[in-house]
Amino acid sequence: MSRMHNKTAIVTGGARGLGLAIATRLAEEGANIALYDLLYERAQAAADQIARQTNTQTAFYQVDVTQRDQVYTAAKAVMEMFGRIDVLVNNAGIVSSAPTLLDLDDEQWLKEININLTGTYYCTKSVLKHMMDNRAGKIVNIASMAGELGRPITSAGYSSSKAGVLGLTMSVAQSVAAYGITVNAVCPGIIITEIHQAYGPEQLERLQADIPLNRNGKPGVHGNPKDVADAVLFLASSESDYITGTRIRVNGGSLMG
Ligand code: NAP
Repeated sequence: MSRMHNKTAIVTGGARGLGLAIATRLAEEGANIALYDLLYERAQAAADQIARQTNTQTAFYQVDVTQRDQVYTAAKAVMEMFGRIDVLVNNAGIVSSAPTLLDLDDEQWLKEININLTGTYYCTKSVLKHMMDNRAGKIVNIASMAGELGRPITSAGYSSSKAGVLGLTMSVAQSVAAYGITVNAVCPGIIITEIHQAYGPEQLERLQADIPLNRNGKPGVHGNPKDVADAVLFLASSESDYITGTRIRVNGGSLMG
């Protein structure tokens, strides 16, 4: 029996990058997928691709996670279509580079907090009542190593939003543990996706300078989207039923302990 058989998972920002890898991995294990994203054509194509590859039901919802009404309307539509929501993966996010706080404009700060943190808050709240009624559910938040220790070049808005995601993870985990719902985070290090267009090649090289893990004979290699997707699958599956309020680091050893 596949690990996510009969489960329905929402994946935000699922049209590309880590979100697409996560949605695909969950679908490979039998989950039906509700994919939230902004751009209609690309996200619809991603949903079609997942459905074709995995022979599961995959539906796309055009949702901006910062828009409370859109988030709640989508959660209702997912319930109508699939009849249940077992897993929420809060993945949608943006990053910017700003070497110091003086390089970060106020608008960008607010944008990063809104998408990365407030979006996670809205999406979580929109499914929580259903999960509490069911006395089951798995919430996986994609945070970041930047939220644990700050990172060179990366904006303070990004690091602060991801530190907030870790706080939200622990707070919600604490408050819904009695309902059998688990809430955990994954903290990726450097996984090359389009998000890194925010950095120049030299900046990226600097960010990758501290990866100690040797992989396939090479040290200092960035991770792959599948590395993150496998960690999410674990936290979304019953294999992690006794784990809540914590984080898994997927960073090649850049931050240990
Ligand atoms: P990505 O390739 O840029 O993908 C981000 C996705 O989120 C895109 O599909 C984007 O849609 C969507 N999105 C952005 N704003 C949204 C909004 N307001 N509402 C709904 N969807 C929205 O980034 P990624 O590398 O896959 O990153 C995914 C998550 O992992 C992010 O939370 C990121 O902070 C985190 N993370 C990534 C890394 C890494 O190394 N890649 C490391 C640490 C943490 P559009 O294409 O339409 O903009």
